[in-house]
Amino acid sequence: MAALAAAERRAAARESLARRSFDLLVVGGGVIGAATAAHAARAGLAVALVDAGDFGSGTSSASSKLVHGGLRYLRLGDVRLVREAHHERRALAADVAPHLVHRLPFLLPLYRDGPFRPAFVQSGILLYSTLARSRLNWLVRPDRAERLVPELRLDGLRSCALYADAWTNDARLCLENVLAAEQAGATVVNRAEVVSLRLVDGQVRGAEVALDGDVVDVQARVTVNAAGPWVDAVRGLEDPRSGTSVRLSKGVHVLVPGGSDWSAALTVPQDDVRVTFAVPWYGLLLLGTTDTDFDGDPAAVSVETEDVTEILDEAGKALPSTLLEPCSVRASYAGLRVLPLGDGGTATARRETVFSVGPGGMLSVAGGKLTTYRRIALDALERVRGPLGLGQIDRRPFPLPGANGGEPRLAVELDPEVEAHLRHLYGSRAGEVVERAAEDPSLLERLHPDGPDIAAQAVFAVESEWAASVDDVLRRRTTVTLRGLADEGAVARVERLLPGS
Ligand SMILES: Cc1cc2nc3c(=O)[nH]c(=O)nc-3n(C[C@H](O)[C@H](O)[C@H](O)COP(=O)(O)OP(=O)(O)OC[C@H]3O[C@@H](n4cnc5c(N)ncnc54)[C@H](O)[C@@H]3O)c2cc1C
Repeated sequence: MAALAAAERRAAARESLARRSFDLLVVGGGVIGAATAAHAARAGLAVALVDAGDFGSGTSSASSKLVHGGLRYLRLGDVRLVREAHHERRALAADVAPHLVHRLPFLLPLYRDGPFRPAFVQSGILLYSTLARSRLNWLVRPDRAERLVPELRLDGLRSCALYADAWTNDARLCLENVLAAEQAGATVVNRAEVVSLRLVDGQVRGAEVALDGDVVDVQARVTVNAAGPWVDAVRGLEDPRSGTSVRLSKGVHVLVPGGSDWSAALTVPQDDVRVTFAVPWYGLLLLGTTDTDFDGDPAAVSVETEDVTEILDEAGKALPSTLLEPCSVRASYAGLRVLPLGDGGTATARRETVFSVGPGGMLSVAGGKLTTYRRIALDALERVRGPLGLGQIDRRPFPLPGANGGEPRLAVELDPEVEAHLRHLYGSRAGEVVERAAEDPSLLERLHPDGPDIAAQAVFAVESEWAASVDDVLRRRTTVTLRGLADEGAVARVERLLPGS
């Protein structure tokens, strides 16, 4: 049944891509492309959104999963970015996706041999918290810090700065933007790669899209390239001489057991600019990230042993080695930041968004932050407002699908841990996820006995959320893979629900 619904959905999307003439084609269903498509569709445009892989399978599921102002950008002097990011953090947590974006205190430990003096940090935190409109901006003593983070290394600790930001589930935040675009009438489809652009009188008028073994000619008046780390590859389809517009930096994260009794995350200063994080995330500790130049094929980015060693060593500045054994690593992932061209190390490169317009009129947009995705998408739309014939764009935040419709009504009684998890991941749509479990209680079975994700989520992912592979379900629709629980049993359970099984 799930397989049938998914196949029908794909066939309808394919038919729509081939038949309709679109106002806007968005290339890339990461968070930027998905939000661009959602805002454009809500503005009444005919929109198509295609992704070569799964939605969110690029950078948008490989971040530090923080919705934050970015304390270290203050150190780089980027007050505007921090102010904007805080503004967006508030909008996401209050209106756009309150189920997915949760406030979290952060402790920044100040060790005697560390790069910062407490007085200097306190003035920075005060500015940061003023921009955040938050009152959480104290220096706290080691005993108070230890109550927030019980494993915090105390030797040599002078004090800790305390401030507030938020954490999220990046893959699901991205997906909800795709679903918002779809709800607003956009044609969306994953595993649909733009392989060439349609040029009419030298102007880009859509693209050839490889989809399910065929190539579909998609007509569109305007094309936006939001291909993230692949931005230059897509620019190259418009103009083979377009060269390089960005540079890439690899960031790796690992998840280790721990953090379930923490009531704050840790921001660990590594030098006078770089910090790393230890964030309690679904009962584990999310540690990272690295920041190293990358100039290979973005699809080949991977986690190397040196990356893991670096992350564990750096976390060891504030945490005991017992938490940080290489054999404790449950899961890891690598992603690519897209940064403006420039000299110097990637850690000091500004996290600016890079916009460019090619000779055929295609707008490319890449870089920036997950936190500011809405603003980046709206800015991209502003830039193509003329060719699209759009009037003023409504920049107000709108609730994503899971933030619409109030408290979910659940047709079945759930284990409290599972219920809380579903309310967090799906918000008001949690009721839809478990609807069928009233008739088929097997859907309430956990995908892995040690995690709260259940079979009903896998069915919902396939039927209603464009999941087409085991990895789509276990890594991006649910939290099984990142909890380190994607074992044979979990894989086999999901395989049975997939199209073609
Ligand atoms: C290590 C790391 C940590 C980060 N941490 C944070 C954080 O904590 N908070 C924060 O705010 N930001 C963070 N960021 C930044 C944030 O993750 C990115 O800014 C954001 O995810 C970029 O989204 P995107 O849509 O531009 O790119 P992507 O998510 O990479 O999307 C691009 C999409 O384009 C598709 N595509 C490529 N080529 C084609 C083609 N030919 N046809 C169709 N589709 C194509 C790809 O499949 C991909 O899905 C982090 C980034 C990294 C790398």
